[in-house]
Amino acid sequence: MNHTPTQPAKRPAATANEPQAEHTAESTLLQPEERVLSTLEADGTRRWLKPRVSPGRFFNRRRIVAYFLIALFTLLPYIPINGKPAILLDILNREFTILGYTFLPTDTLPLALFALSVLISIFLLTALFGRVWCGWACPQTVYMEYVFRPIERLFEGTAGRGGTAKRAVAGWRKVARIVVYFLISFYLAHTFLAYFVGVANLRQWVFGSPLDHPVAFLVVMAVTGLMMFDFVYFREQLCIVACPYGRLQSVLLDRQSLIVTYDESRGEPRGKHKPKEGESRGDCIDCEMCVSTCPTGIDIRDGLQLECIHCAQCIDACDAIMTKVNKPTGLIRYSSQEAVEEGRRRLFRPRVILYPAVLAVLFTALLVTLTTKSEVDASVLRSAGALHTISEGKVVNRLRLKLTNRTDRAATYTVAVVDEPRITLRLTEKQLTVEPGRIHRVGLIVYAEPELFVNGTAMVDLAIRNGEHEVKRIRTPLVGPDRVEPTP
Ligand code: SF4
Ligand code: SF4
Repeated sequence: MNHTPTQPAKRPAATANEPQAEHTAESTLLQPEERVLSTLEADGTRRWLKPRVSPGRFFNRRRIVAYFLIALFTLLPYIPINGKPAILLDILNREFTILGYTFLPTDTLPLALFALSVLISIFLLTALFGRVWCGWACPQTVYMEYVFRPIERLFEGTAGRGGTAKRAVAGWRKVARIVVYFLISFYLAHTFLAYFVGVANLRQWVFGSPLDHPVAFLVVMAVTGLMMFDFVYFREQLCIVACPYGRLQSVLLDRQSLIVTYDESRGEPRGKHKPKEGESRGDCIDCEMCVSTCPTGIDIRDGLQLECIHCAQCIDACDAIMTKVNKPTGLIRYSSQEAVEEGRRRLFRPRVILYPAVLAVLFTALLVTLTTKSEVDASVLRSAGALHTISEGKVVNRLRLKLTNRTDRAATYTVAVVDEPRITLRLTEKQLTVEPGRIHRVGLIVYAEPELFVNGTAMVDLAIRNGEHEVKRIRTPLVGPDRVEPTP
């Protein structure tokens, strides 16, 4: 079978293990031939998934990665780099600190280069390793599979085959599970917010009374509520129906990308029972262990599906079965569509050469932009009102100077005209001090001799100094009279 990732899971609407709504002659509902969504029953109700745990080499490796990532996700806002948090996405002040570098609102070019680099890296990663992010590193998968599902199993027991609970769960266990979920979600909400408000603000919120900062308290509770909604109710549906990255798989993957795949030529025809004499049978014994362990509820034997997050749980489940029945492991394995169908592996193809080439250009441009940035950004805008006026025989231009202090210290600047004694200027503030990372706008009144203007324009060079040190030089036009009247 050769399915594209856009195809829905081709599971029958019901199996022997999954009770389903009775079909009566009076039933007026049309029954779908196949399950429309792996999280929906044929009658449209929710199909709750309780995937079976399948310990194995990938499960164990993913667990190590998951614990490492949980620690990393928690610590990132606290780890200082260059005296700043490793990641701080300060949306209110429009400042994004990433690995010690702060992108300010004026950093349009470096921000665009950075965003493009991230995007192309995702393209490259997906082309090479498929949905490795989804199955191994996405916070949704990491917390769901290695925090919330284990807690669920702790309180409510392991699920039976096909996701049906072995026995009724006591009420107190269900309540206890929700309480623990709430506590973890509450903690995660704080970690999540630390990325946006910084740990100093968060500490203040945590140790202060909610009455002192009601908005912050409401934000924490709202984020906790959203996490509860996700991990208690929405769960795998986030990957299946809501995540935009999942929906993009059909264009990001190609036939050579690494995917979790079932070797149909080896597994089919499948069968539960011993083959009759003369009957040929594939290696798949149709035990459905790969289905009951799948966290998104699909059957990998139906081919590549967009619900598959490439978590490799079905590989572990099938390998264990193959070992039991004395057959080689790898009936389900990491491979590519092309390798499974045509038996050849091709790592290099145009896109995996093109993406790194584009990335190299983007990174070089980003590096050059960041390393050549001066410690102050400056731009001149024209004030509202008349383009120019004449005062005491001089042409007067009213401008606004916008300064961004890119350093970590407050700085006091001076502005002076370069090499043109016939132009003078005056600032509307006595002292031009700008706090670190902040933008400051100041009025600039420029007086110029009329003879400097050619066709109504004259250029002026402004030097911005921090003490004796010139930190920026900008050239800006002045507007004046079209023609200079001869002095009588
Ligand atoms: S089919 Fe296999 S790899 Fe894909 S989500 Fe299910 S268990 Fe994970
Ligand atoms: S676990 Fe392996 S043997 Fe069992 S149904 Fe799945 S593919 Fe077939």
